[in-house]
Amino acid sequence: MMGTRSPQEKLFAADHLYLDYVGRETLYGYLAQNRRHLFRDEDFAALYCANNGRTSAPPSLAISILFLRAYEGVSFVEAIDRTKYDLRWKVALGLEVEEMPVQKSALQEFEAKLVIHELGEALLKKSIDEARRAGYLRNRKIRVALDTTPILGKGAVKDTYNLLAEGIVQLVCRLAEVDAEAPAAWAERQGLSDYFGSSLKGVAAIDWDDKKQREKVLTAIVGNARQLLDLAKRFQEAHPEQAEVIATAAALLKRLIAQDVEEKPGGNCRIKQGTEKDRVVSVTDPEARHGHKNASKLFNGHKAAVAVDMESQLIGGVEVLAGNAGDQEKSLELVHQTERVMEVTVAETVGDCAYGGGPTRRAFADENRILTAKVPVISNGDCFPKTEFTIDLEKMEIRCPAGQTTNECRLAREGERKRFQFDAATCQSCSLRAQCVRGQAPRTISVQAEESLQQQARAHNQTEAGRKTLRERVVIEHRLARLVQLGIRKSRYFGRIKTCMQLVMAAVVANISLVAGYCKRQGAPAGIPSQETVYDTNIGFLRVLFVILTRLFVRHEPAWA
Ligand code: SF4
Repeated sequence: MMGTRSPQEKLFAADHLYLDYVGRETLYGYLAQNRRHLFRDEDFAALYCANNGRTSAPPSLAISILFLRAYEGVSFVEAIDRTKYDLRWKVALGLEVEEMPVQKSALQEFEAKLVIHELGEALLKKSIDEARRAGYLRNRKIRVALDTTPILGKGAVKDTYNLLAEGIVQLVCRLAEVDAEAPAAWAERQGLSDYFGSSLKGVAAIDWDDKKQREKVLTAIVGNARQLLDLAKRFQEAHPEQAEVIATAAALLKRLIAQDVEEKPGGNCRIKQGTEKDRVVSVTDPEARHGHKNASKLFNGHKAAVAVDMESQLIGGVEVLAGNAGDQEKSLELVHQTERVMEVTVAETVGDCAYGGGPTRRAFADENRILTAKVPVISNGDCFPKTEFTIDLEKMEIRCPAGQTTNECRLAREGERKRFQFDAATCQSCSLRAQCVRGQAPRTISVQAEESLQQQARAHNQTEAGRKTLRERVVIEHRLARLVQLGIRKSRYFGRIKTCMQLVMAAVVANISLVAGYCKRQGAPAGIPSQETVYDTNIGFLRVLFVILTRLFVRHEPAWA
């Protein structure tokens, strides 16, 4: 059952006694003055059974603690400690000085409920509603900027040997659970105790520079994995109630073998050349992927995709993508989310050149949406890039830098990329050939299905309005920097769903910080009087009386005096 906070103000609550001491204009002070309408118990009623079970910690209090935890980037243990000892937290939460409001497990359980019930979007909306209430957000038609930033995964990333060993350990744990036995003991019975050391590579006493010895170890590991998978199949048939859990661990082990190992016909194994596109890099976080921040910087984990209102800088949409996903993935979903959360119409979407590809433009054009993004430039070594050629889509003709034209089109299927080829003899005798094409073949130019959209985009980006919009896109860099400051560079959780909740809480803090700053600049009172906050004159009088009596009769002397 849901616990609720009493609307009756506590006489000795820290926000009554120490609000000015902590500072009304700080985020703690802002939360103290606004938490009653910002986070209400009734908004979380769907998370609880209405008429059964123990009474929970009040959700309005739990979400306020999670908000402060995201603000300060602390662990659950530290957050609980701060509710006990930190006066700023006491003021923000409206606690009495000796009050210990909630246990760590209750807070974790509450956060799990938020994840399971997918309340991320509703929480983000609360921060936007607060911005409207405070007068910070007024527009109903906005421009949004989109971008992504890497999130480093929480799971340990290991090499192929240790990754396979971890996959084996995970499956052993599931099978040992079925036999109600300790995993290490179960593994010893199966002759797999080597996998329960700190590092398999540390245990294997071989010369790791010797390729043959390495392949021998790999063959032994894959052999053990295959035997374990056969055993898992039998366990699944014998224990159908546990089949799903076993199948998940077995599927992961199979995938690790398939992605990294080349099994030769004779039974010998070696590590595959190259890296599979969607390679699993961590057993503890199988959703983490190899990603590229740019051509030279790699990371392992996920990507935070964010939509920001370019005028107010409020974050209206968040999503966590796979680390190897393109930045433009789910860009339309982010725009839709922003419209739902902010209750606005997105008039224009702005992104960097990652959002300027043909398919993304087509998706936006199909919804009659304006997308402003640079058209990606595909370099062509030291030869003329495609942009040096004039493409006339009406005549279906291409003019090259030497003034030659062609309308000879190959692979011309409706709705697909077309390939134009210049006359071979003309190219052979051309004086610009060395700057245009390598080898003996004539120059070819690919024209994508969305070429007309790309031409319109190039033209728009050259206009003053287009250049100004692209310059203004920089606001999203500032908001991403703020999110990184709030700790989203590193995931606190395994998996994308929980990581997304971390991102949502950081976005809520970033938005409320903007609103608090706005109220401070305006010199307006941050809080609004509500039924609960207007505590009667008697309480106000008693509080003043208490403070006077305290000052009169309590002598604050040093402990050593
Ligand atoms: S090599 Fe062919 S396509 Fe290139 S500039 Fe010369 S004529 Fe034109």
